[in-house]
Amino acid sequence: MDDSKLPPLAPGTLYLVATPIGNLEDITLRALRTLKECDIVAAEDTRRARQLLTYYQISKPTVSCHRFNEAKRSEEIIQRLRGGEIIALVSDAGSPGISDPGERVVRAAVHAGLRVESVPGPCALVAALTASGLPTDELHFKGFLPHKSGQRLKALLRLRDYFGTLVLYESPYRIEKLLGELSETHRHRLVVIGRELTKRFEEYLRGTPRKLSELLKNRRIRGEIVVLVSGEDVEEDAGDDEAETPLGAAD
Ligand code: SAM
Repeated sequence: MDDSKLPPLAPGTLYLVATPIGNLEDITLRALRTLKECDIVAAEDTRRARQLLTYYQISKPTVSCHRFNEAKRSEEIIQRLRGGEIIALVSDAGSPGISDPGERVVRAAVHAGLRVESVPGPCALVAALTASGLPTDELHFKGFLPHKSGQRLKALLRLRDYFGTLVLYESPYRIEKLLGELSETHRHRLVVIGRELTKRFEEYLRGTPRKLSELLKNRRIRGEIVVLVSGEDVEEDAGDDEAETPLGAAD
């Protein structure tokens, strides 16, 4: 591609650059160019960002922007943008701002009248949703539920009557707890667990909360997971034929 025909990055712009959620091939040409041509990369974890940059043979100064310093760092980023710098914001994986730092600094930049552009790419929510087989036209993204049992149940109860697909991020250590909770709040719904998306052991597990709980009694689930819940009830034996649909070898 002739780079001279591409529009140059705009000075004073904050670029939100999506990075791979596992498979390092999942990065756009525009993301790579933005990382190459920006003045500085603001990263959730500068060490991880440097590993990523090194992999793509990009050398660029980095500054940290994580959930503990995002408020303070936002002010510095705004100052730099006002001075005309081009800043690329990356999180550890996927799209910045989606259950990751980014929202605050974007809001600060928007309030300051500065230009913000998304350089879209990988996002576990979209990857899981599109391959889940559940409706994609109406969805509620909850991200991570709170850790405390009462608050989790309350959040799930509030979402019980939602008619679209519910999407949650969850830790593999809490999946059994979540399935137990869903057995109470979303008992007859179809649950799809998308695991290790874009990676070697990517797989989808499908069934009612009770069926999946039974399945997980015999195997421990590892790696990263997205949990999707259908907005409508299904037959109790739904997902029986395809309770487990591994796309790679079991680990
Ligand atoms: N910003 C990221 C995105 O765009 O998806 C999400 C970051 S959040 C801190 C991390 C959570 O995303 C994981 O706990 C998991 O629920 C989900 N996730 C990230 N990568 C994943 C993958 N490869 N497979 C399944 N879930 C993934």
